[in-house]
Amino acid sequence: MHPGSRRRPSTASRTLAGSIVAATLVIGAVSGLTVMQMRSSAWEQVGRVSQNLLESVEHMVDRNIQLYDLSLQAVVEGLRNPEADGIAPGLRQAVLFDRAATANGLGAILALDAQGKAFVDSASVVPRRVSFPDADFFRIHKEREDVGLYIGKPLRMEPDGRWAIPLSRRLAYADGAFAGVVVGTIDIGYFNVLFGRLSLGDQTRIAFFRESGELLVRSPVMEDAIGRNMTAAPHFPRFLERRSGQFVAIGYTEAIEGLFSFSRIGDRPLIAAVVVPTQTIADLWRPKAMAIVAVVAFLCGGLIGLTLVLQRELERRARAEERALAANSDLARLAHTDGLTGLPNRRHFDEAFARAREEAARTGAPLSLILLDADRFKRYNDTYGHLAGDEVLRAIARVLQRQVREPEEAACRIGGEEFAVLLPGASGREAAARAERIRQAAARLQIPHIGNEGGIVTVSLGVAEVVSGETVGQCFSAADAVLYEAKRQGRNRVVARPGGAAGAQVA
Ligand code: GH3
Ligand code: MG
Ligand code: MG
Repeated sequence: MHPGSRRRPSTASRTLAGSIVAATLVIGAVSGLTVMQMRSSAWEQVGRVSQNLLESVEHMVDRNIQLYDLSLQAVVEGLRNPEADGIAPGLRQAVLFDRAATANGLGAILALDAQGKAFVDSASVVPRRVSFPDADFFRIHKEREDVGLYIGKPLRMEPDGRWAIPLSRRLAYADGAFAGVVVGTIDIGYFNVLFGRLSLGDQTRIAFFRESGELLVRSPVMEDAIGRNMTAAPHFPRFLERRSGQFVAIGYTEAIEGLFSFSRIGDRPLIAAVVVPTQTIADLWRPKAMAIVAVVAFLCGGLIGLTLVLQRELERRARAEERALAANSDLARLAHTDGLTGLPNRRHFDEAFARAREEAARTGAPLSLILLDADRFKRYNDTYGHLAGDEVLRAIARVLQRQVREPEEAACRIGGEEFAVLLPGASGREAAARAERIRQAAARLQIPHIGNEGGIVTVSLGVAEVVSGETVGQCFSAADAVLYEAKRQGRNRVVARPGGAAGAQVA
């Protein structure tokens, strides 16, 4: 057919490809949604767990500070009692500190005078010779009387350098004037032990810090981060925006992205935070998601592969079918074609004549037939050879092809050196004129034929218009009869059937 031209895919193959593309898209979308779902539920779950953890931390810290504050308040009250002044130092110490917490992690309580010098010490009857005139907790109480419980910046305790958080309250004279400070410390390690009891994943971090930015406790322990001021961290302002919340940011003590859950501790100027690295959250959903994606990709790949195979098979069949059809139509064409001249053959002529006859009967239009026979052709063969004769037949065929208007009209080779021309719509007179033109055209070829009168190849033609009620056979016989008449009259002429509209003989 057209081996060079690219074939368009068949409808079946296009439908197949379309449905597979649609199916693949649907599967892809569904698995995409599933993966998104897995991701968001992992984030939700971690958010919830962090929130619970945060509440525990907040409660623990608040409770410990509250208890310790009760001890400080007891000391403040005790020192305000005028009776405490007179009693012996040992007794006074027992009275002042009987409510003092002695739990692990809670350090000694000191009372400092207005110059910052210790004058009462829960740890010994004779107070230690220490003074804190420059400590932040001393200065703030000295400057302001409404501070209440003050949670100071973390300090390193003598002699072992452990970190502790100072908690302090103001001492005042009866007239409200500054009389000193009561201060106690909570060991930072104590909180680390408390937090250690909470069941955390390896990656979860817990911290609490002052509103002013100093880190107090971080679990797991990171010694050199304690006391560091974090206000420079880009995410720090977000802790101050509201009482509690969650956000994603890069950590301060470790440069790792994580989900931060934070909350104010009670109504204290402290903030607790729980941080879970984003990677840890990803580890919860990503491996499963990857497995799903891999399986889906494998299935879709298989689906597409199968489709391609199927499509190729469909294409192959469509091509085979096309070739078979083409071969059939070639055969059909060959069966209607004359091999020597390429004109339609007798079989075709018979069918076309019958069809044209029916058409003429239906429409009432005229139909005429010309029969043509080469003159003295036996002699031509005898003189010039059969091959040369064949060549003459081809030349006559070319003349006819030029003279007929296809596809309405048809010139056919109906026998050895005999041809027929069907002229639908032509009356006998018109057909005779056309026959004459054919005769002249053949003569103009000037093919030498010494055995013929005139010395060149000529043809004789008989013309008959189909008359009403006549069969094709009768019309053909009539045309054959006038052709014979043309031969009889001396050849190289046209004779039309007399009696019709074209009764005249044309020479
Ligand atoms: P007329 O003028 O009366 O028609 O004489 P004619 O010789 O043409 O008549 P006839 O029917 O006796 O001879 C026809 C000849 O046509 C016989 C044959 O050799 C020749 N012929 C038939 N078919 C072919 C063909 O396919 N090729 C060639 N070269 N000659 C053919
Ligand atoms: Mg003949
Ligand atoms: Mg002849």
